[in-house]
Amino acid sequence: MDRSRLRELLARESADAERRNPRSRAAYARADHLFGRVPMTWMNKTAGAFPRYLAAARGARVTDVDGHEYIDFCLGDTGAMAGHSPDAVAAAVHTRFAELGGATAMLPTEDAEWVGAELTRRFGLARWSFSLTATDANRWAIRLARAVTDRPKILVNSYCYHGSVDESLIVVGPDGHGTARPGNVGAPCDVTLTSRVAEFNDLDQLERELSHGDVAAVLMEPALTNIGIVLPEPGYLAGVRELTRRSGALLINDETHTFSAGPGGCTAAWDLEPDMLTIGKAIGGGIPAGAYGLSAELAELLLGRDDLDLVDMGGVGGTLAGNALSVAATRATLEHVLTDEAFAGMAKLSERFEAGVRACVERRKLPWSVSRLGARTEYRFADPAPRTGTRSAAAADAELEDYLHLYLANRGVLLTPFHNMALMCPATTERDVDTHTEVFDAALAELAG
Ligand code: PMP
Repeated sequence: MDRSRLRELLARESADAERRNPRSRAAYARADHLFGRVPMTWMNKTAGAFPRYLAAARGARVTDVDGHEYIDFCLGDTGAMAGHSPDAVAAAVHTRFAELGGATAMLPTEDAEWVGAELTRRFGLARWSFSLTATDANRWAIRLARAVTDRPKILVNSYCYHGSVDESLIVVGPDGHGTARPGNVGAPCDVTLTSRVAEFNDLDQLERELSHGDVAAVLMEPALTNIGIVLPEPGYLAGVRELTRRSGALLINDETHTFSAGPGGCTAAWDLEPDMLTIGKAIGGGIPAGAYGLSAELAELLLGRDDLDLVDMGGVGGTLAGNALSVAATRATLEHVLTDEAFAGMAKLSERFEAGVRACVERRKLPWSVSRLGARTEYRFADPAPRTGTRSAAAADAELEDYLHLYLANRGVLLTPFHNMALMCPATTERDVDTHTEVFDAALAELAG
């Protein structure tokens, strides 16, 4: 690749973005009272010198404050996989919040049991509890795993992402052993005291790490989705299940992103049998909601332990978790929006997206790969597709990514800032997918000169 040409094009697209977005630029310049000028520091992870400010969003469309409309394949990095403000969720939220009233009354509503039953139908786990984020679902699942196994450590995959969970910020270092993930902010202690790590798709390493007998749970995504998509090789997930069972470690599937695989995530699609399952983001249809499920045996065991304070100050729970508004939104999302039929349509669109990108990449003989997990497709600057998180991390190319993201955004197509990831929602159309393919192809043509 001609790097100087790439830099020229990137500079041109950055200048275009500044010219096209005076209101966003001014809003960012005025935001003196925000830490890093943004509501959350990660919002500075954007191609270009400032983020575009949101004005409105509906279905698969976002409009910014400068009046540009975008086809949104980012979908809030899965938080809006149901589409932005779908009618059924908007109605449920309006009813619960405005008509009936009561989002945070410290009292249960009957929607929660409906949602629990539906999550059981989809994912198989028998008992459910709620959170507001996937991070918290993971944190609480980890606490329960430690309590029930009386073991200290959590094992994750190198370059995983499970939210801001201290135990997960570990990678396999150059010497093959666990070390702190670079950039970890304010770790409470050396991460190797709380965690172990193995490469995804590496059963030997997993077996070696589990052999110490100190792992309470393996927390993993059935396919990595936060370092490109890294799909499991045949036999890998069955091997994980066998090794965890043999070593007495629990298995927690984090389906927050892999939910894209189908109505019951990878767990249902691939007949997986985790002891616990965590999920967040999409299930609330845009309203903060998360959940964790556990097997009936595990739930019984935990509830029978008099020494565990599950009700008050034991460290599991949050005041607003399971609130009436979040649960009403989750019910509406699962009952009317992210239905079994909707997933079938989303997966078909994603196939079309994958085929479009693949054709462009192959025509230009680029050494890139394209991976798909149901409604989610991602391309990576490596061919063949990396089989571990560490190899996938090594394939990152920030300049190239920024160029493609800016080129697309300047022409009305949004990808997820942290990825080359495109997600389909029930409102996405074939025309939307084809528009992406055309603009992506034009970006590659300019790069080739
Ligand atoms: N688990 C996975 C697999 C995720 O991808 C994410 C967020 N990208 C999280 C957990 C954390 O979600 P949240 O930020 O809503 O806590």
